Amino acid sequence: MMEDRANILREMKVCRFCLSNEERELSNIYDKHSTETKHSVPLPLQIMACIAIEVFKNDGMPQLICNPCRKLTTQAYTFKTNCKKADDALKVFLVTGQLSKPYMQKVDEMKQIVPFQKPQQPPKN
Ligand SMILES: [Zn+2]
Repeated sequence: MMEDRANILREMKVCRFCLSNEERELSNIYDKHSTETKHSVPLPLQIMACIAIEVFKNDGMPQLICNPCRKLTTQAYTFKTNCKKADDALKVFLVTGQLSKPYMQKVDEMKQIVPFQKPQQPPKN
């Protein structure tokens, strides 16, 4: 039945973006990551901006993302944001003759994002 499959899809323990089922790599798309601040762009918005897939909680799709895809998304978002800043600065140069170098976030900074630590897991001792 179609409805059964819809339920299976929603509960599926796979990464929505690569279908990996490596369980310890998976985390909820909508849970705030420990390294995110209130100023961080939410992951669903980063996904929308980079890969043009609209992702929302009740869309009936798997709710999980793997660490590699999380990292790639954040890197892609950083790259896109940097490109936009450069483009804006170049356009400002056209108008004003001033080329100011905007702050570019290093993609390497994203290394801190992985591995994802599930907040509910107590540390092993
Ligand atoms: Zn993935």
